[in-house]
Amino acid sequence: MSRNVAARGTQPLPPLSESHIDPHSYPDGVAFLDGQYLLMLPARISVLDWGFLHSDATYDTVHVWNGSFFRLDLHLDRFFGGLEKLRMTIPFDRQGVAEILHNCVALSGHRSAYVEMLCTRGASPTFSRDPRQAVNRFMAFAVPFGSVANAEQLQRGLHVAISDKVRIPPASIDPAIKNYHWLDLVRGLYDAYDRGAETALILDFNGNVAEGPGFNVFCVKDGKLSTPATGVLPGITRRTVFDLCAQAGLAATAADVGVAALQAADEVFITSTAGGVMPVTMIDGAAVADGKIGPVTRQLMALYWQKHDDPAWSSPVHYP
Ligand SMILES: *Cc1c(COP(=O)(O)O)cnc(C)c1O
Repeated sequence: MSRNVAARGTQPLPPLSESHIDPHSYPDGVAFLDGQYLLMLPARISVLDWGFLHSDATYDTVHVWNGSFFRLDLHLDRFFGGLEKLRMTIPFDRQGVAEILHNCVALSGHRSAYVEMLCTRGASPTFSRDPRQAVNRFMAFAVPFGSVANAEQLQRGLHVAISDKVRIPPASIDPAIKNYHWLDLVRGLYDAYDRGAETALILDFNGNVAEGPGFNVFCVKDGKLSTPATGVLPGITRRTVFDLCAQAGLAATAADVGVAALQAADEVFITSTAGGVMPVTMIDGAAVADGKIGPVTRQLMALYWQKHDDPAWSSPVHYP
């Protein structure tokens, strides 16, 4: 079509140019796309991909720390579970995906990396409205390790706002399928910024606390931990906290966490592959307890990073 437009002598098409793109604005990393390993800049998908047009995609994020993947098996389980629930198929099995992830990290040279595997519904050659005619697309990438909380925030604790936005309910989207339906979370973030906070927690459909943009939340009261049970992505860092609590003899349960309970907690922290266990010391402008990072949070932060050296939970990247 564009060629016809030009042939009719109407508005000539501007030359294809990348000059408006600053390649340095992309993180340094390696992607796998359509059978090739690429730098991040040329790793692009079609605007007709359902992943982009309809958020029709699932993904998982795993991290590499000191040259080893952390709990990669659990991330692969979740990713393949999401694919099955969304009726997507990819031409790789678990071993194949693991190998691609290893290659992305090894080629990037990063010793600590944020590694994502994803599958979109893809596009169909006819732009069909039938998702069964789309060709599913698997891709992966490794970029430098990133954290929800920066170094300063890890030192003093995050300042969080509780937004009144409601997380998309599980009856609409099974939260165990890690997904890009983030408009609720992004609207929550803007609420938080408007109130001078650094990140947000949003609610579940019953008005209890759910989760934040890419993280789960825990509170500690009288030495006992709790985290929202329903309507949240079952995070692998959340699961790791349960595992660590079992080993350390701490009581932890998944249950409803009301807004008032969170505000009255002794300690609050959030959990994500992007940053691990991260302290929260202020909620809606008020200090959590005395406003200092509490002992249980400190203990779990330490245990979490110690476990990265445990061969049971880590697998070394095969660097060349
Ligand atoms: C990924 C994610 C989390 C955290 O899960 P981890 O497996 O610990 O990284 C929490 N909530 C949402 C919505 C997420 O997408």
